[in-house]
Amino acid sequence: MSTLINNNREKQGAQAMEKTTVVYIDGKYFNKEDAKISVWDHGFLYGDGVFEGIRVYSGNVFRMKQHIDRLYDSAKSICLEIPIDKKEMMDAVLETCRRNETNDGYIRLVVSRGKGDLGLDPKKCSKASVVIISDKISLYPEEKYKNGLRVTISSVRKNFHESMSSKVKSLNYLNNILAKIEAGHIGADEIVLININGYVTECSADNIFIVKNGVLITPHPSVGLLEGITRGAVIDIAKEEGIELREDFLTSHDLYVADEMFLTGTGAEIVPVVWVNGRTVGEGKPGKMTMELLKKFRELVKVDGVKIK
Ligand code: PMP
Repeated sequence: MSTLINNNREKQGAQAMEKTTVVYIDGKYFNKEDAKISVWDHGFLYGDGVFEGIRVYSGNVFRMKQHIDRLYDSAKSICLEIPIDKKEMMDAVLETCRRNETNDGYIRLVVSRGKGDLGLDPKKCSKASVVIISDKISLYPEEKYKNGLRVTISSVRKNFHESMSSKVKSLNYLNNILAKIEAGHIGADEIVLININGYVTECSADNIFIVKNGVLITPHPSVGLLEGITRGAVIDIAKEEGIELREDFLTSHDLYVADEMFLTGTGAEIVPVVWVNGRTVGEGKPGKMTMELLKKFRELVKVDGVKIK
């Protein structure tokens, strides 16, 4: 009996010691349980807003400036005025990481249109809301980096980018979510979206690269895709390493006959693909160039960023 009481006390003690995650909302920090946004917020009612996902590696916020620039560009494109400037935003990001002791993790930045009425009109929303969360990240399991992913091609077409630019990282991800659901039905790890003209754009949450005859190729931005920060880092590494690189118009056929394939994203980093729609990619294991790029990328993240302390 006394052992049971002691065990319970120990458990309670450990829980009290565990730090609660804090969340930045509009200039204030709230414990995770109290971090709340109004149901009248048009981010909730209409998916009206923008976001960013950023990685922290060893206390280093990777390519923070590029992420912040992309956030403000996304906001400008949808006429959303962010109530704080870029410097204040970056300070708030760093402070959130410090308070949560996020030295290795993930930052989610959300700017929503703010509280309005039930109508669509964003003019009724007087002020945008800014939310910053920092937490742990669940990546693909390490096994996937060793053995590669299986991807499929979606029957869901990529949203027409003249209707809604894919360069805007908006709170409306339904197009990608529908594709992700399809991937789940098929049992694939990720899914490639093709645009209405039949060109490969990107995956539900990652950019895509192939290697063919020693040339690194990724879809041209004009097909409608998010110009990923990780994609940009891979392009930079390729240029430094003298790897021949092309942004091009790719079809599913190009994926089927690729020598190597990999995906890039803030959460995924660089992850090899070994199977696409029933076709084995190359020799069915992560390619040489892919693994070289992953190695270089993991070196880059240690130095390219802003220190939280
Ligand atoms: N495409 C889409 C649709 C995304 O959501 C993301 C972000 N996960 C990416 C590409 C990759 O972009 P980044 O490298 O900036 O994370």
